[in-house]
Amino acid sequence: MSLAVSRLLDRLDRPKQVKPGQWMTGCPCCASRKGRPIAVTEADGRALLYAFCQCPTENVLGAIGLGIEDLFDAPLALRVEPTRVRVPAADILRELSAEVTFVAIVASDLAEGRSLSDHDMARLTKAAQLIGAARDYVG
Ligand SMILES: [Zn+2]
Repeated sequence: MSLAVSRLLDRLDRPKQVKPGQWMTGCPCCASRKGRPIAVTEADGRALLYAFCQCPTENVLGAIGLGIEDLFDAPLALRVEPTRVRVPAADILRELSAEVTFVAIVASDLAEGRSLSDHDMARLTKAAQLIGAARDYVG
């Protein structure tokens, strides 16, 4: 199990595994247990959190003392050093994948009519910067 998934499952109330790599439980934010509205899905070094009760992801995480960054196993920092330390392509792609996943989560929230918090907006800006830094590093 990934670090991010175990961190979430440890804090959620009695999550039930519904299939390999996926757990469901009640919402810690709105206290809804109807149909186990929170789904946690393991996905290659990160946890995807989906709230069927429409609670914003940030609020669900906040209710259990976590933030958006806790959905990822590894820190998201991707620095381009002026000395051009060689970073393996696989590491860059993994960071890009994590950033794109975050953007997809935000897009999903927006598609469902949720508004972006200041934190999400700042994190989205950081994602764009990290993706740009990766492009500059490789290019
Ligand atoms: Zn909820």
